Amino acid sequence: MKSPLSQRIQFSLAYVLVAAVVLSFLQSWLLAPRTVEIPMSKFLDLLRADKIEKVSLTEREIRGMATTGALPAPPSSATSDRLRQLLGSDDDIRVFTVTRIPGVDEQRLVAELEQRKVEFAGRIETTFWKDLLFGWVIPLAVMVGIWMFLMRRVGGGPTQALSFGRSKHKIYDRKELKTTFNDVAGVDESKAELVEIVDFLKNPKKYQRLGGRIPKGVLLVGTPGTGKTLLARAVAGEADVPFFTLSGSEFVEMFVGVGASRVRDLFEQAKDKAPCIIFIDELDAIGKSRAGNTGFVGGHDEREQTLNQLLAEMDGFDSSKGVIIMAATNRPEVLDQALLRPGRFDRQVVVDKPDIRGREAILRLHARAVVLSPDVQLAVIAQRTPGFAGADLANIVNEAALLAARKEKNAVEMADFEEAIDRVVAGLEKRSRVLSEKERDIVAHHEMGHALVAVSVAHADPVHKVTIIPRGVAALGMTYQLPTEDRFLLTRSEIEDRLAVLLGGRVAEELVYGEASTGAHNDLERATELSRLMIMKYGMSERVGLATFGDSAPMFLKGQRTPWGGEREYSEETARVIDEEVRSILERTYDRVRGILTTKKAVLVNAAAELKRTETLEGDRLKRVLAGEVLETLA
Ligand code: ADP
Ligand code: MG
Ligand code: ZN
Repeated sequence: MKSPLSQRIQFSLAYVLVAAVVLSFLQSWLLAPRTVEIPMSKFLDLLRADKIEKVSLTEREIRGMATTGALPAPPSSATSDRLRQLLGSDDDIRVFTVTRIPGVDEQRLVAELEQRKVEFAGRIETTFWKDLLFGWVIPLAVMVGIWMFLMRRVGGGPTQALSFGRSKHKIYDRKELKTTFNDVAGVDESKAELVEIVDFLKNPKKYQRLGGRIPKGVLLVGTPGTGKTLLARAVAGEADVPFFTLSGSEFVEMFVGVGASRVRDLFEQAKDKAPCIIFIDELDAIGKSRAGNTGFVGGHDEREQTLNQLLAEMDGFDSSKGVIIMAATNRPEVLDQALLRPGRFDRQVVVDKPDIRGREAILRLHARAVVLSPDVQLAVIAQRTPGFAGADLANIVNEAALLAARKEKNAVEMADFEEAIDRVVAGLEKRSRVLSEKERDIVAHHEMGHALVAVSVAHADPVHKVTIIPRGVAALGMTYQLPTEDRFLLTRSEIEDRLAVLLGGRVAEELVYGEASTGAHNDLERATELSRLMIMKYGMSERVGLATFGDSAPMFLKGQRTPWGGEREYSEETARVIDEEVRSILERTYDRVRGILTTKKAVLVNAAAELKRTETLEGDRLKRVLAGEVLETLA
């Protein structure tokens, strides 16, 4: 990596070079004797009047010097005359050029020159200057031009190009940062976790008193627009410390090594200002897993170097100095495992999309700034906007305010909000999914199906949260089960119960609607995989027996998927039996689940309705609906 200084030198050298070339051209043009082009007839006249002193001949032209005053003055431009005077060249024009007529007899011309006693000589036309110009100067100029253009793109301007190895982070002083937790609403769980970080920054001593180590890195994980960036700023604002921020994509430049030097620079500056927060937004831009990486040529190397530098810096500094690194990503699954290791981003804070109450709180927060008409009911707007993130809600309030202003109203009315929602929904539908009423209904029954089966079988992990707030592209809803203890061994009945829970969603849909939707796709995949494992790895099928098949390494217990890419090492016959067994396990489970849910259909329907109302059910309320209680509707 070159230092900024040597780049500066290089850059000014280029300027000097270009300037020198330009100047030398200017000079040779100005200082060259002034010439006039005269026709052949005029030349012959002059020759016969003995007004030619000497000539040199080439194939194409005659160049010569006439006696003083013999030649007509060419049209002159004031500036060039002025320059000439300054440069001290004489005024008189005596040099001329004549274009030779092709095919004219050489002998006669030479004879005539001889006769008139004119000094003459032959000359071979040199192409030296032309060669220099076209072979070197112009290509060089073009290259320098392209280079400068690239620099401009990298740095945003020639001045920044001079320092492009330096970090482009922004530093906010504590005075500039006015964001606090009061500016964030609807993500109370994430906030609660970050309160602790604020306390670390404020009283590091308190936590180190007993030998504890303050966490170095906090990773905010959540879909776009949920307020990750906002939360990071709020932490800095609350802790009253400087805030260094840089987006991951800004690290990765086209020049290998630049990103790494930016990281170094960032940490160096931050260490001087401790306690402080370094915030790396969009961490996935640099933190992408290095395995199986097929970026465009060059991008790979650059990112890897940047990532390595980041890892090295994170390891190299001591969090007791009070520097906490925060980062945000919406794609935690692509991050390199090395980043998530203890001592790096060991704390992860999930920033979820807000539920109905959260949405109302966010709307209320942003509505502070606008004049609301009394007919506006933020709770109703919150109801109408399932799946919206904080940024979408902020957008709705703003759109509504603009719409009302255009209609020259004195306050923003409910009708403006309705229109704003429609607009924002139209925009959202392009980039993510907004569920229709019917779809929400299906998802609610599906998720409650999972949950209800989980509480009905003996060995399933307890359900602690069910939600129909869509997250990411794949999941429309989610049922969270918390294992009560770490599991390294599963008994057969435990696996069977897991299978039952997986099929719960699908069966619930069928029971309520009489047909299935595509929503269970992922469940079925996992159920099939699990039953294959039972047969092929765990010897839990009587027909197939104790033999195991396929690739080794039972990844399932670690919660990872088994790649089914290995060589098949069993007969066609066995393969058929395995397939049949998978089917039969799934069929048996299906019947069992159908039995459970048929007897509890009333509970299922009631629970799904409740889930639709509140979008998220957890804790006590969840327990009560799953036990069949009808809760009073949401206030
Ligand atoms: P992210 O970084 O998660 O993509 P941002 O923090 O950039 O989202 O959020 C963009 C804007 O949306 C914020 O500046 C804020 O106005 C609004 N916003 C998002 N989430 C919230 C929230 N939980 N509370 C209040 N405003 C929010
Ligand atoms: Mg952000
Ligand atoms: Zn499901």
